[in-house]
Amino acid sequence: MTPDAVEKLDGFFKTFVQGASPVLLLDYDGTLAPFRVNRYEARPWAGARELLMRIQRQGQTRMAVITGRPAGEIGPLLGLDNRLEVWGLHGAERIYPDGRREMEAAPSGAQQKLDELRERLRANSMGGLFEDKPNAAVMHWRGIPPHRAAAIEKRTRQLFEPLAQIDGLNLLEFEAGLELRVGRDKGGAVEAILAETGCAGPIAFLGDDLTDESAFRSVNAVSGAHLSVLMRHKWRETNANIWLKPPEELKAFLERWLKAVAFKVWID
Ligand SMILES: [Mg+2]
Repeated sequence: MTPDAVEKLDGFFKTFVQGASPVLLLDYDGTLAPFRVNRYEARPWAGARELLMRIQRQGQTRMAVITGRPAGEIGPLLGLDNRLEVWGLHGAERIYPDGRREMEAAPSGAQQKLDELRERLRANSMGGLFEDKPNAAVMHWRGIPPHRAAAIEKRTRQLFEPLAQIDGLNLLEFEAGLELRVGRDKGGAVEAILAETGCAGPIAFLGDDLTDESAFRSVNAVSGAHLSVLMRHKWRETNANIWLKPPEELKAFLERWLKAVAFKVWID
């Protein structure tokens, strides 16, 4: 960890004082769990689940996962004892801890164009790995040899980019893939949560991918105590305040969160 990261972490956890309402927002894939070719096998890093359960049991932290996956996939993969707030499809979908589910409504013209594209890609995925979501068409090329991946990316861009000009449709770039979608992004999900919590904090968001950058920016815009964390093996250019490497530095972060909350409860 760099001296700058150590200093920022120290400063952040010092804000867990009397009356603080900590908010912990987490991406799933790559952040809480290593990537798997079979996405249904992506279980959390050893030890991470236990730490999250302990944070839940303290009953002091508003914790939520914000993921690109459908929200319903996270509960079974994470396997916590208590149900969790999950924002799925990068924020367009929400599952409350009591199981209620909400889907953001899209402009009908944009949804229609998207549905036509999804139908076309279901019939012919252009050699890539097509993921069909209710609010998005997603093309993946993770694990495909570079020359073939480049050809798939080119064809995908030719198809997606003109459609992204339509009002309500947006292009989302991520590592080894491209998504054409309607609805909020992760930054929009963070802002919706902040609106509910009245911008109280301290607040942290942990993520690894390019799609997490909008969430980093929303967290950075908070006037109170905040920390955006790039959780990733390799450093890259980012809006995040600090960079940590999973799984050891993730676990250390969660342990520190537990202790900071325990201290806050003791003085409250
Ligand atoms: Mg991720």
